[in-house]
Amino acid sequence: MNPKYSFIIPIYNEEETIPELYRRVSAVMEELDDTAELILVNDGSKDRSLQLMRNLHQKDSRVCYLSFARNFGHQIAVTAGLNFVRGQVIFILDADLQDPPELIPEMIEKWRQGYHIVYAQRTKRRKEGWFKRFTAYAFYRILKQLADVDIPTDTGDFCLLDRQVVDILNSMPERNRYLRGLRSWVGFRQTSVQFQRDPRFAGEVKYTFRKSLALAINGLVSFSRVPLQLSTYVGLLSAIVAILMAILVIYWRIFTPHSPLTGFTIILVAIFFIGSVQLVSIGILGEYIGRIYEEVKGRPLYTLAEINGFSLENINTKQMTARQVVKADHGRSD
Ligand code: UDP
Ligand code: MG
Repeated sequence: MNPKYSFIIPIYNEEETIPELYRRVSAVMEELDDTAELILVNDGSKDRSLQLMRNLHQKDSRVCYLSFARNFGHQIAVTAGLNFVRGQVIFILDADLQDPPELIPEMIEKWRQGYHIVYAQRTKRRKEGWFKRFTAYAFYRILKQLADVDIPTDTGDFCLLDRQVVDILNSMPERNRYLRGLRSWVGFRQTSVQFQRDPRFAGEVKYTFRKSLALAINGLVSFSRVPLQLSTYVGLLSAIVAILMAILVIYWRIFTPHSPLTGFTIILVAIFFIGSVQLVSIGILGEYIGRIYEEVKGRPLYTLAEINGFSLENINTKQMTARQVVKADHGRSD
């Protein structure tokens, strides 16, 4: 029998938070009206996280886990969880308890009202640095302006998904997975619940500035072609400036004896300007072409080193996005 509710939690070096995480999530699971499973995805942790996950699985059969052969990143970890999930109602949470599991009954209430996707929207970020708050604030608003789909502002990956939605997400072949965008793209009836984002329970932030920037660029490039068009617009603009300047120069040549537009500097400035516009345009092109390259290679999204808690018939390999090498060390005895 498949459980009705599934929790997916990506784990990267979270040994300090796992015990408390388990305590709070299992407390919520007890309160639910039906069976539940907790899928932990170990994203190549270097600390004792995997060992803790094994112990939890031994103690509590509702806990299952997948373990990647290396760090593949948060979005891929969640994707793997979605590939293996068995419930009808699926929750995605962060491991650090910034997404309070206690919000889940409220989300289920919305699901009962007929919503397929219920995403949690932060009203306030408690105790996060001004830089993170500011960049996040700006990014979500820029994305909203530029993206083809309506991606709600200030939402993370914390959400409830109906089985139907998960099946569609699993059938999407793309490897650059910006789940918040894909989630909006799917459609269906979506709604939000509001919450205040607590600070991380323990440990360091696992999203370094570089990872956050990569995620932001990924979101933009995957859901908007505006950056590509930008170079066309800038090109047109500088063409107009050039024509105006040409007319001006001819005018000065004919009507004023000492032209103000002579000399080396102006040429230098123009060369630098056009050069940088061209380089930036090539860079933007590169972002898109790089992504095409990634898609074309068709490598699996992740490699699994260990899985536990899933019986073989439950693993629907067809469902897995990447035509994969899932060479899993199945049901290790430790
Ligand atoms: N995470 C992951 N792989 C990574 C980085 C992060 O699975 O490479 C997980 C991490 O364990 C946590 C979640 O993603 O469960 C969010 O990470 P974090 O709290 O560091 O990010 P933030 O709250 O700043 O978005
Ligand atoms: Mg966090």
